Amino acid sequence: MEIYYTIPDIQKCLLELKSEGLSLGFVPTMGALHEGHLSLIRRACEENDKVVCSIFINPIQFNNKEDLENYPKTLESDINLLQENDCDILFLPDNDEMYPKPDTTTFDFGHLDKILEGKFRPGHFNGAAIVVKKLFEIIEPHKAYFGEKDYQQLVIIKAMVKKFSIPVEIIPCQTVREKDGLALSSRNLRLNESEKSIAPEIHKILSEAKSKASKSNPENIRQWVISKVEMHPGLKLEYFEIVDPHTLITVDTPLKGQKYIAKIAVFLGKIRLIDNIEIFF
Ligand code: AMP
Repeated sequence: MEIYYTIPDIQKCLLELKSEGLSLGFVPTMGALHEGHLSLIRRACEENDKVVCSIFINPIQFNNKEDLENYPKTLESDINLLQENDCDILFLPDNDEMYPKPDTTTFDFGHLDKILEGKFRPGHFNGAAIVVKKLFEIIEPHKAYFGEKDYQQLVIIKAMVKKFSIPVEIIPCQTVREKDGLALSSRNLRLNESEKSIAPEIHKILSEAKSKASKSNPENIRQWVISKVEMHPGLKLEYFEIVDPHTLITVDTPLKGQKYIAKIAVFLGKIRLIDNIEIFF
């Protein structure tokens, strides 16, 4: 695997690849790689001639300074994992490379970045969209891979690509989970032993909510989830909403047989975890 630290260096390499007519897949990450990230890398390898992964902890998408400072960093292991999974190129820029001067772009995504995660993490999606747009402009991939674990991010990136007519195909990838159902996340590294034993409850509650849906309605399910989360002293619910998969608007009167997304964010101690599940009424 080749590693590039600067924009001119990676662009020189990519220009050569593209001049040979090779297709390019791209997986943007913030590192602390796990099987979720690696599933994206493997899918990109299957569908493209060459695969680029980026690792950049994007400061402007953190609305919480402590979260940024404590974000896990496991670069040596990340490089080994990328090599073992046949990634061709790693882009590893630093802050000065990505932001030689502060980027104050403000995107207008309508309601999409103001609800759900956006309500609790103001500026998060604007910061994420800035860095992903920059990375797309640097790398110009044919396909880019994003996890459904960060469902709202996926919807917003799709909206951004459409808005700016960026010629990249966005490929959504299924959430990879532990055997006990916990969605893999770099932040799981920060859970202590007792928090680790509680964390699988989040997916268990979502799964049970899903199984109740055909005999219930969104508001009753919401109330059930709220009471279920309250029963666990370690968990603190930030939100639970059942939303339209495209508009992300909360659904009151769902259509039978149509897919919706149940989204949840909870605090487990100081660690904020998110998850979601498809749900049908
Ligand atoms: P991050 O490093 O958290 O910015 O994530 C980089 C990419 O990996 C994003 O597209 C995430 O949605 C995706 N990702 C993170 N966790 C998972 C997971 N458990 N399963 C699938 N994709 C994931």
